[in-house]
Amino acid sequence: MSHTSSIIRRVSKQIMVGNVPVGGDAPITVQSMTNTLTTDVAATVAQIKRLEAVGADIVRVSVPTMNAAEAFREIKLQTNIPLIADIHFDYRIALKVAEYGVDCLRINPGNIGNEQRIRSVVDCARHNNIPIRIGVNGGSLEADIQEKYGEPTAQALVDSALRHVDILDRLNFEQFKVSVKASDALLAVESYQLLAKQIIQPLHLGITEAGGLRSGSVKSAVGMGMLLSQGIGDTLRVSLAADPVEEIKVGFDILKSLRIRSRGINFIACPTCSRQEFDVIATVNALEERLEDIITPVDVSIIGCVVNGPGEALISDIGITGGKTKSGFYEDGKRQKERFDNDNVIDQLEAKIRARVSRDDPS
Ligand code: SF4
Repeated sequence: MSHTSSIIRRVSKQIMVGNVPVGGDAPITVQSMTNTLTTDVAATVAQIKRLEAVGADIVRVSVPTMNAAEAFREIKLQTNIPLIADIHFDYRIALKVAEYGVDCLRINPGNIGNEQRIRSVVDCARHNNIPIRIGVNGGSLEADIQEKYGEPTAQALVDSALRHVDILDRLNFEQFKVSVKASDALLAVESYQLLAKQIIQPLHLGITEAGGLRSGSVKSAVGMGMLLSQGIGDTLRVSLAADPVEEIKVGFDILKSLRIRSRGINFIACPTCSRQEFDVIATVNALEERLEDIITPVDVSIIGCVVNGPGEALISDIGITGGKTKSGFYEDGKRQKERFDNDNVIDQLEAKIRARVSRDDPS
């Protein structure tokens, strides 16, 4: 239903990652990174397609060697979504993937080496309209910064980021975005808050190495949620020790929770108790799986009894409230005459949701 976010977004300069805008008034994008061997073209292409199917806007691929750069050429030819090449140190790889049509380079200018190498990469990026992501990580700060601060602090992360930013400034290159990731959510939050005041470029949010599916999702949601609610962040990646497809789903769930960007079904479901009149948990689990293909935003409330059912249904697009043998069905907040058999709620709800989606979005 029509709940919109009242968050005021930080003003940032928009850059283009392929055909996807990042920053400015562009929707906050959700990205992930492949975890296949990049040299295994078939596996990497298949994973990129799976990520695209669940809504990824952008995908990052690590390109650690020249062989991987050759594989990247093939991967780029076989996929449509904008691809970022993740490169550490070797400027020749950056030049190679630029030639092969990369949409963004994740490379830290300060790590490229001498001035001539830095210039060759930045000139190449400029010439080909390729933006750069500066990616600072609390786990890999420069030795002198580590020594100065003793441990990764927010100021240490920001100092490191600004060092790379200064190089690009000096070369009059403005098409970049920056991340200052840390595995500690509060440290990451503080770092992004500091950085947000100092540059105009878009910020790529992430809590790095957040953990497994459950704990990493919670940590990411807390950290990124704090930042996003303050208007900070233009694109995000949830880093999970899990299937990258989950990163995209969790990324959208975070944006959905803040009403920043909707995609697919937003389930509202009660935790259940002895009052439930139908199996709420089984219904939610089954529908989450069955309706994964839907991208139209729909709020669906699935509530086990009349204690909270009518109230939630009132503010949902579609709602069900458990009743004795038959459950109440609501659409657009209004109780409908039709009721659902409690032993067949899943099929009936799925049919109603699909009918609504094809009515709202006939494409
Ligand atoms: Fe229990 Fe009803 Fe509350 Fe669900 S809505 S938790 S079934 S009282």
